[in-house]
Amino acid sequence: MREFKAICVECWDEYPVARKNLGYKTCLECGEANARIEVQRRKKCMAPAYNKGAYQYVGSVAVARSVGR
Ligand SMILES: [Zn+2]
Repeated sequence: MREFKAICVECWDEYPVARKNLGYKTCLECGEANARIEVQRRKKCMAPAYNKGAYQYVGSVAVARSVGR
C-alpha cells in the first residue's frame, strides 16, 4: 500500500489519492478549471434546449469528441 498519490489525467501531476477516491481524475487545479468549463458548457447547452431538444444532444456529442482528444 504505497500508492498515496494519483496522477492527473490533464497535466500528469500528482494529486492525493483521497481526491481520486472521491471520483476525480484530475488534480485540484485542473478540477477547478474543468468545473468552471463545465458550468459554462451547461449554460450554453441549456439555452438552445428551451427551443430545440435535439440541439442539446448534438452539442454534447461535439463536446465529448473535443474532450476525448
Ligand atoms: Zn492537473
